[in-house]
Amino acid sequence: MTNSFSFLWGKRNQEKCFSSGATLVLRMAIVTIKREDCTSCTTCWSTCPEVFEEDPADGMSRIREAFRISGDPGKGKVPDEHYNCVQEAATVCPVEIINVEE
Ligand code: SF4
Repeated sequence: MTNSFSFLWGKRNQEKCFSSGATLVLRMAIVTIKREDCTSCTTCWSTCPEVFEEDPADGMSRIREAFRISGDPGKGKVPDEHYNCVQEAATVCPVEIINVEE
């Protein structure tokens, strides 16, 4: 048993924070949108507006800037607090173009 707070995800995509001798392990998810196949149905940003939004330039879904990897609107790194909503958005996307990797 360690003096740590740990979420029950796999070891990949975790970030560690060290504070006061304790280890806080935050799980992260990699979220991708195959934007070229987006139908602009609005479902993902209605389901999970914390992470997804409409791109005003083309009407397609994109990852909010705060979570993007290398500025890519189709790829992001999302902390645990948003995991459930991105997973739900992936489930309800009618063309199944949202992928979530733990
Ligand atoms: S749910 Fe899927 S098809 Fe609909 S806007 Fe989001 S990514 Fe595009």
